[in-house]
Amino acid sequence: MTGQERTPEEELEHWRSVEKRLRNLHYRDGDHCAVCTTDFGRLNAPFPCATIRALENKEPTT
Ligand SMILES: [Zn+2]
Repeated sequence: MTGQERTPEEELEHWRSVEKRLRNLHYRDGDHCAVCTTDFGRLNAPFPCATIRALENKEPTT
């Protein structure tokens, strides 16, 4: 299939839009992430959650 190759600029724009969507989804709600929950599934995870930390600090996620 042709026409699907992205230029470096388009690739960068793609990942910027991904990051924007993640940040919109994982917004801060008080001291917690609005969408992440703990393993217990009741309380929201502390903000910044693992997703936001990964975006900002490039922390290795195991
Ligand atoms: Zn989150």
